[in-house]
This record gives sequence, structure tokens and C-alpha cells, in this order.
Amino acid sequence: MHTTCPYCGVGCGVKVDSQGTPSGDAGHPANLGALCVKGMALGESQSLPSRLLYPRVNGEQVDWPRAVDHIARRFGELIERHGPGAVAFYGSGQMLTEDYYVANKLMKGFIGSANIDTNSRLCMSSAVAAHQHAFGEDAVPASYEDLDLAELVVIVGANTAWTHPVLFRRLEAAKAANPHQQWVVIDPRATATAQQADLHLAITPGSDLMLFNGLARRILDSDRLDRHFVERHVAGFDELQRQLSAPEYRPERVAEATGLAIAQLERFYQLFLDHPQTLTLFCMGINQSLQGTLNAGAIINCHLLTGRIGKPGAAPFSLTGQPNAMGGREVGGLANQLAAHMDFAPANRDKVARFWNTDRLAQAPGHKAMDMIAAIERGEIKALWVMGTNPAVSLPDSDRARRALASCELLIVSDISPNTDTAKLAQVLLPAAGWGEKDGTVTNSARILSRQRPFKPAPGAARPDWWALCQVARSMGFEQAFAFDSAADIFREHAALTGFENGGERLFDISALSELSDAEYDAMTPRSWPLAGQDGGPARLFADGRFATPDGKARLRSAEPSAAVEPAGLLLNTGRLRDQWHTMSRTGHVARLMAAATEPQAQLHPDTLAALGLERAELIELHNEYGRTLVRPVADDGMAPGQVFVPMHWSEEFSAGGRINDLVEARGCSLSGQPAFKQNRVQASPVELQWQASWIATEVPALLPAWWSRRPLAQGECWSLAGTDTSAEQFRASLTAEGSWLDWPLPQGRLLVALEQGKIAGLLLLGLSPWHINPDPLAALIGTALQPSLLLGQLSQALAGNSKLVCSCWSVSEDQIRRAIAQNDITELPQLQQLLKCGTRCGSCVPELKQILAVCHPQLQGENI
Ligand code: SF4
Repeated sequence: MHTTCPYCGVGCGVKVDSQGTPSGDAGHPANLGALCVKGMALGESQSLPSRLLYPRVNGEQVDWPRAVDHIARRFGELIERHGPGAVAFYGSGQMLTEDYYVANKLMKGFIGSANIDTNSRLCMSSAVAAHQHAFGEDAVPASYEDLDLAELVVIVGANTAWTHPVLFRRLEAAKAANPHQQWVVIDPRATATAQQADLHLAITPGSDLMLFNGLARRILDSDRLDRHFVERHVAGFDELQRQLSAPEYRPERVAEATGLAIAQLERFYQLFLDHPQTLTLFCMGINQSLQGTLNAGAIINCHLLTGRIGKPGAAPFSLTGQPNAMGGREVGGLANQLAAHMDFAPANRDKVARFWNTDRLAQAPGHKAMDMIAAIERGEIKALWVMGTNPAVSLPDSDRARRALASCELLIVSDISPNTDTAKLAQVLLPAAGWGEKDGTVTNSARILSRQRPFKPAPGAARPDWWALCQVARSMGFEQAFAFDSAADIFREHAALTGFENGGERLFDISALSELSDAEYDAMTPRSWPLAGQDGGPARLFADGRFATPDGKARLRSAEPSAAVEPAGLLLNTGRLRDQWHTMSRTGHVARLMAAATEPQAQLHPDTLAALGLERAELIELHNEYGRTLVRPVADDGMAPGQVFVPMHWSEEFSAGGRINDLVEARGCSLSGQPAFKQNRVQASPVELQWQASWIATEVPALLPAWWSRRPLAQGECWSLAGTDTSAEQFRASLTAEGSWLDWPLPQGRLLVALEQGKIAGLLLLGLSPWHINPDPLAALIGTALQPSLLLGQLSQALAGNSKLVCSCWSVSEDQIRRAIAQNDITELPQLQQLLKCGTRCGSCVPELKQILAVCHPQLQGENI
């Protein structure tokens, strides 16, 4: 059975065998058979420890008719009393296109408000706004084949090796096949991606617009300006030229603003000038900024000025974070879009209203994600339906968002888990079908439409989101418009709308698929749009130099960088880890995915740690006027001094600390509404700890200290604990009351073994730093009879130390790798792979293996390890 990975925007094809085991689909154009570690772990991630199986209303399990009736009735009452704007939907790039289409149709077409937004607002809405301005439509002008064809690859604000691993592996293969391919990585951090670049530019955060405006100025001053292309296909040249003639775009001023040496800047600019086949990949570092839309626009400007668009290996390429962020954009899942790449222009409203046969169509854009929270606070939005996302953790100023969500008169959450921070606030919980159970389509970063297919029945009463939405819509009186019986039905209508009175006006037109039979939909193979011919082969966007603007010309964007405000404190940067997904609601329970990063950490340069007196701190508090959180500090040479990086994954489900979006101000790009996650300031101070411990057991502690973090093990869980006020004895007393305890003194602490009927029920290591212990050997003893010699053996292994897991597929730690390199004088990756097998399965850790080799052999740096 062929389906698509549900995690990132690479959109890898997955084959699932009769046992439910996933493997890469060699026939899928996105991945050609490869999967990263998250894709490889899809089998394990299916067994969620606590699955939401039945609807719940105010804590009571109910059947679907009762839940649907409750929602429809409450929506009806609120709309009658306060108008359609009192109701809102908040969706997700995890939803399938068919779910998204129905949600958008119900809200904009029949409830009559455009209050539907999505978590895609948080990751790529700046790119959307930039595309719409430059090209007249939200169309990504690149394909994955361009990775193989490019001579120069510029990666800006993206740690591709971790966030789009299969795409990065494809880049590695492209470079291996063409050693002349050059990589420039622009990122304040020396990430796994940056460390493999030919040139890494660690720019001052927030200076991207200056850097690319400087590049545009350099292009104008060179003979690489493609005058012919600009004259025929581009508008706004004179204005941009006027703006860029200002003295601040002289190289020395740009170097100063970006924090780069003139020589570095010149090298980048010269590389760009010298390589007509340039591909510029950009992601969150560009989009999640106060000037996100302008940043993306400045990148696009450089491609338009050089005519590097619509040609093999040459394009600006926005990478999407989620599997179906693009599909959501296609149906109009953002509050400022109507449907099928149409905005709220009167002619579009007329078209869509006639197509949907409605007289209730929303007449203006609705609230974007951050505005929705403000509208809830003002009491304008009274009911919110959240689908497949966790805004209580992922929105900026998330503590405020959580309070707003809790204050809703009606909060409905559709999810597979009842335990997300958002689900815990809901009055109505709806059990959603998960990956492997639902049926529909997704569109990846490169406009490839793929099928997600079910290969097992949904458990309990779990249902697809489109089905739940249709039930509510019908119950509200819109039977005819929501009489869909299947995902195929919805897809046909969606495809038909893309072609409705299109006349070549809109690039997004998949209406050739609107007549697919159920069997053809079921068998649909991956295809990119624009659809080329009957078989859906790829077509290159903008190859003819015509854009989707009224005059057919692309538009340059002139924009000045705004002056940076520099309040005191550390500059906070947030982002993703290689093995985790979003707020861990689908990956946090998988032991091998959690093993590479076991608790929320803050990465800081060693000099910054020293300057702040934090070198010895086991735990630090990060705080600012929006919130505070406790994290473990980690020294990282790849960080610039004065900056701190914290992953965005942790939630209350997994730790008392690390919910970093509590500290992010709810402000963002004024053009796109995308939050500026990467431009906040925090203070750091050490936390005085009274005690520390590790609890290894299957039992969840009843009493939790000030800081805790839990992670699954192959058997049981490990709870890392630190107390600032309560005592360790209070904590111990809260654990297993029955049975007896064996108390074993250790040189620097104690081992307490909880016994039940002579068998080990749990192990508490008191007084030892929990992050230096390897809990797995002790966890292996749970449920076994006490054997002192075995316990001692396992204990000494546990105390030998906890080394970061690098290869999740073959469980190879950093210590093992370093030891193997030293003992066997290994200098090349294949030797290491042969010895330890690390990096030989999914390959996601290959960039880190190269990094470790480079650190162990500094003399080899720059050589092809
Ligand atoms: S790169 Fe990994 S997470 Fe992304 S789609 Fe492919 S397998 Fe899934």
C-alpha cells in the first residue's frame, strides 16, 4: 500500500507492508525511496499510549450524534446572538486537503465568516504573502529536481539537515555527483547544515533583508543584471534601483549591519553572480521575522533581477514545514484567502458564492492566528474548533493563548490524543482518525499532490475531520452543500473549483482531476501542478516568463530594513530538533525518537555561559516580561555569543520546563501575520536546586517537584526530577505506597529500589544529576526478581554515563562513535559506517557523523570526509 509521510513538507512516499511496517517508496518523486528517522519510526509512533477513542462533552463520553448536536446547537445560538464572527476554526498543516476544503467551505461559505486560520500561519505565511506580491499567486517556482541541477545552493534560515532530512540527503547526493555544486548557508547558528557548507554566513539575527538588499545592489552594479528579462517580465525596477542606490547598501555598511566580514560578504555575492543556476532555499529563519514577507521578497528580487526563475536549477524555493501546509493554502485555509488561490476581491466572491450555491459567503478576510487570540480576549470570538494542532503550546505568548482558549464559551478539539495541552482545555473532544486510518491528499513543498491512504481501521469511534465537519454542517441545516460521502467526493469538488471560470487567470488549476472516478482517485499517483497533459507530468512554473499578475509581469518589492531595537538580554532563537515533531504529540512517546534529546535544553556559547556565571548550573531559568521557563543549559560552540537556542517541542505533557513560546511576544510580520518567533530577548539566571533524582518505573509519580521531564524507554519511563522547595523524601513518600524499599547508599547519593512481591517496581536514584545517568540498564530490571549482583552490574552501566544518541536507527551514541574513531584511527565516514552501522539506514545522522569526524580530526576539515 502506497501512502505519504505525515510529518514534514518534503512529503515522502511511504510503502506499508501487510504487517504495517513502513519503508520508503522508491517510486515517489519526493524521496525516491528514502525516509528519515521520523519516517522510519512511523510504525512505533502508531501505538499512542493514550488514544482519544470516543467523543466527550464536558468530560462525559457521548456518541457522535450527541456531540454533533451539541456543537451545531451551540454554534447556532452563538451565531444568532452575536453574528457569524463569534465562531472560528483553527486548523493545521496536518489536515488532509479534503478536511481543509470542507472546513473552509463551512466557515467561509455557510457560517459566513472568514474566521478560519491554521498553524501554517506560524511557519510559511510570510512566504505566501511574498509569492502573492511577486508572482500574483502563491506559487512555489521550484521543484526537487532543481536540487540536482543547481550549481549554487543558498540555504537561508533553515537547518535542512534536521528539518527536511530527506531533501538534504538528496542535496548531498547532488553534491557528490557534481563536486562543483557550491553551498552557502546563512544562519546565525553553526547547525549541522551550516557545518557542511562551502561558506557559512553567521549573520546577525534579523539582518536578512539588509543582506539580500545588498546582494540586489551588487547585482545592479554588475553585468549579471538580466536587463532583457527585467524589461520584458518584471515591474518595479526603477523604484528598487532608486531605493538601493542609498549609501547604506554599500558593502561596508551591509557588512556592518549583518555582522559579517567584507571578505565573507564579497565571497557570497561573487558566488551568486557567478552561478546562473542558483537555487535559494528558505524557511523559518526568513519567515518567522518582523519583516518576514520583506525578507522573502528580497530573496525573490535577486532571482528576478538575474532572470533566475522558471529555469532548471534556478529559483527561490520556500520550504514548507508541514506535510500539507501547501494543500491548506490551495483550498484557502488561511483567513485572508477565500478559496482555490482566490482572495476576497468582489469578482472572486461572486464566483465562489455561485460555485458553492450560497448567499452567506464571507465578504472579508477573518482573523489570523494571533488576532484570533486577541478577538477571544475581547469576547468577539466565543467558540473555537481546533483541529489537529496544539495552539496552547505553539502560539507565541502561549501562556496568554492558553488563558484565552480556556476562556472560550465553547472550545472544541479534534485530535488523536486527549492529552495535549490544548485538548485538556476543551469542553468538547472529538476523536480524529490518524495517519494510516484517513484517506485523502496532501501537497508538499514542491507542489506534488500525493495520496494518503488508510491501511487499518480507525479505532473506537475515531472519524476523519471532514466527516465530523460534514455532520455538524448538516446538523446546522446545510445538508445539500455537505452531502459528501467520501474523500473522493470532496476532492472532485475541490478540483472543479480550481478550474471554475478560471480562464487561465489562476495557475492553480487541477480541474482535469475533477472527473476522477472513485477507483481512479484511489489509484492516483503523485503528480505536481500545473498538471501537464493527461498523465500529470511535471511542468515548470514561469518557464515562459509570464506571471499571474494582471500585466503578466513579476513585481519587485522595495523595502527598507527597519531599525533593530536592542533591549538588554540574550537573543532567543527557537526551532526544531532532528527527531521530534511539533509539540511531540505524535513522536514524544517513541523511545528512540526521544533518545537523541531527552529533556528541554538551552544551547549557549561557552563564553556566554561563563559571562553569565552559568557554567556549573544544572538548570537555568529563562525569563522575560511574557513568562519564564526552566531548561538545562548546554554549551555549544556553534552558537554566537549573546544568543540562546531552545527547541519549540516541549509541552506540559512531557516536562515542567521548556515551553519556550511562553517567552515569545505575540507580534510578527505586519504583512503576513506570521509571528516573529526568532526575535525575542530573554534573561538567564541559575536555579538553586535542593535535590535531584531519576525515577525509572512504569508508575507516574503522584507528586511532581518544581522541575521534571519524562521520556519513554524501551521499558517504562525515566523521570528526571529536580526540587527547589519540596524535599526528596516528600517525593519518595508519594511513590509506590505498597511493598518495601531497598535503600542502597552510593558514593554520591542513594539508590532506592521499590519492591512489590519481591519484584522490582521502580528505581529511584537520589542525589545524582539525572542527565548524566543512562536509565536503560536499570529499566531492564523492572518486573524482575531482585538479584543483587545483576542490579549492581546494571547500576554500574547506568552510572557510566549518558551519551547523546546520534544514530537512532542503530542506537549508536556519541561516546561510542568517538571511541570507535579514536581506537580504530577512523578518518572517513564509510569506515565508521562499516564498523558501527551508524548512518546506514535512514541517513538522518550522517551530517552529525561528519561533524564528529571533523571535530576528532580538525586537520581534515574542508576535505571531503
Ligand atoms: S523527510 Fe522525514 S519527516 Fe519529512 S516527509 Fe520525509 S520521512 Fe517524513
